[in-house]
Amino acid sequence: MSQTLQAVRGMNDILPDEAAFWEIFEETIRSWLKSYGYRPIRMPIVEPTPLFKRAIGEVTDIVEKEMYSFIDGLNGEALTLRPEGTAGCVRAVIEHSLAARQTQRLYYIGQMFRHERPQKGRYRQFHQVGVESFGMSGPDIDAEMILMGARLWADLGLDNIELQINSLGQPDERANHRAALIAYFEENAELLDEDAKRRLHTNPLRILDTKNPAMQDICSAAPKLIDYLGAESLAHFEGVQRVLRDAGIPFKINPRLVRGLDYYNLTVFEWVTDKLGAQGTVCAGGRYDGLVEQLGGKPTPACGFAMGVERLIALIKESGGEPEPQVPDVYLVHQGDEAARLAFRVAENLRDNGIDVLLHCGGGSFKSQMKKADGCGATFAVIIGDDEASTGEAQLKSLREGGIEQRKLNVDDLADAIIGQIIDSDEEE
Ligand code: ATP
Ligand code: MG
Repeated sequence: MSQTLQAVRGMNDILPDEAAFWEIFEETIRSWLKSYGYRPIRMPIVEPTPLFKRAIGEVTDIVEKEMYSFIDGLNGEALTLRPEGTAGCVRAVIEHSLAARQTQRLYYIGQMFRHERPQKGRYRQFHQVGVESFGMSGPDIDAEMILMGARLWADLGLDNIELQINSLGQPDERANHRAALIAYFEENAELLDEDAKRRLHTNPLRILDTKNPAMQDICSAAPKLIDYLGAESLAHFEGVQRVLRDAGIPFKINPRLVRGLDYYNLTVFEWVTDKLGAQGTVCAGGRYDGLVEQLGGKPTPACGFAMGVERLIALIKESGGEPEPQVPDVYLVHQGDEAARLAFRVAENLRDNGIDVLLHCGGGSFKSQMKKADGCGATFAVIIGDDEASTGEAQLKSLREGGIEQRKLNVDDLADAIIGQIIDSDEEE
């Protein structure tokens, strides 16, 4: 026997019951985004490797050790499976001049790839909902993006997500802070782990983003970026906070929130839950005013966030959300050649009338077909034998307790009878 094949480690199949749950989740997401004026965009999953190096930063977890990069064997091009969506979205916005004369509110939903150690809430293929805006520089859009999150959690019935915000200021302000940070970490060199030692002179801010428990104390006591911000940056930050206070959204200022990607400035934020163990951040984002220009476009203010779909779905389940099983309205049972031909016609006709039909395929006795009809959770069985087929009729049988008596109907009257029954039973509920 040949060896069984398995999915790549850290990359999951999403089986039908689970996938149905995802689809409902995605419907909620799309209508929520539409209500804020966001429009979809779809980018390739593979992009040129230099795009991510330039956008995310060479000295980041993602670029240093998490990217699935490879050389296209046919033309030698360096390619990478996207580890996040912002870089590709910005590339597309520049390439198609989407933000040249107008503002844009865009979103996408899809797979991302990072070579991390797989664990609960952390996978090598995972999904993000990415939300990006272009052309707006004030704190209003940052604040609206945060308000959006609060509404989504309410729509999803989640009430255990805490908001943390911070401001990363502007590059010149960060440079002053950087010098203070290096001096501080040098004084405490013996307490630094390997990652931190390596980053001390390349990207010391990244040290604050560490997940190493042994580094928490030294990072908490480090010089705070917020103390280095000038009046303009502080006013922007205050502008965001004012909208949040007006909307009654509680938040915590977390001076160590620096985000794992280099492109952010001013506002950064994360939505964090304590219900998912160590992988508690379900949504994260901020402003990235320099990125469009850095990738070759005209200077364009921008702001965005990404949500981890796997983590959010886990949280919905943790909070008691149940997947609704997908059941057809009708299971169509038939036996005999003439009955089979009529069954196809009846099934299409019912679907024309908006009724979901599972047409039995593969033959078998009436008894075994009826067992399948019962087992699949359908509301009705429609039964056609050659007797019925010869007169253009079918039996309609309720599969629910207390449903209508079984009756024989002309096939042209089936749809109305079924719709009438579905409406009656909806009214009773
Ligand atoms: P973390 O600190 O958990 O590694 P991150 O800062 O690397 O997250 P972002 O790049 O901001 O994550 O991605 C946004 C969101 O995508 C995260 O908040 C999380 O919900 C989700 N996410 C990131 N990496 C993974 C992963 N490997 N598996 C599942 N979800 C992920
Ligand atoms: Mg990460």
